[in-house]
Amino acid sequence: MELIFRDDAYQRSCQATVIAADEHGIRLDRTVFYPMGGGQPGDSGVLRLHDGGEIRIVDARKGAEHEDVLHVPEEGAALPAPGTKVTAEIDWERRYRLMRMHTCMHVLCSIIEGEVTGGQVGDGKGRLDFNLPDTRLDRDAITAELNRLIAEDHPVGARWISDEELAASPQLVRTMSVKPPMGAGRVRLMEIEGVDLQPCGGTHVRRTGEIGRVRVTKIENKGRQNRRINLAFVD
Ligand SMILES: [Zn+2]
Repeated sequence: MELIFRDDAYQRSCQATVIAADEHGIRLDRTVFYPMGGGQPGDSGVLRLHDGGEIRIVDARKGAEHEDVLHVPEEGAALPAPGTKVTAEIDWERRYRLMRMHTCMHVLCSIIEGEVTGGQVGDGKGRLDFNLPDTRLDRDAITAELNRLIAEDHPVGARWISDEELAASPQLVRTMSVKPPMGAGRVRLMEIEGVDLQPCGGTHVRRTGEIGRVRVTKIENKGRQNRRINLAFVD
């Protein structure tokens, strides 16, 4: 399956052919739908049929095979036959908010010391958990630093390194809960120039300025060594 979102997160739709469809989901030969993973929700959207019909897609999940995406149709939808040509189209406004918040999580990573132990990107909000004993995290200071780095409009881009190169540079891995997607011979590194560099398979905006203004809404103590930082968009 060709994963178009990985090379171009801004592509909203693509032509595709149905490979298979069952109660678990619809598989296409190529897709713009990001499947849930790395703390980012799966895309929703629609598969448009050439006869004018459409199949509403409520979620996208990783399939059992490598680089496999299951497009989960709404309940009761008639499944398309293999070979059916469709236009796959994501709910772009939701995805773009997820991309902005996901990219903001990388910025947050860069300004907090401590390993990331978990995280979740939601629609308009997000959170990261850090392995940190320090309870003196300052909400306003973190908000100010985030917005400074966002306003500096740093470029965001991907590059690939081999599994061996990554194994030789364990400091690149900031997350303990989300293993980098190794095993395919190469790993995708996301770089926010001058700010953050880490393996990530998610979708990101091209520049930090696109994130827009954010604020830390809450800092929670989730156990002795675990601090949860919650963010939301200001607008
Ligand atoms: Zn990412």
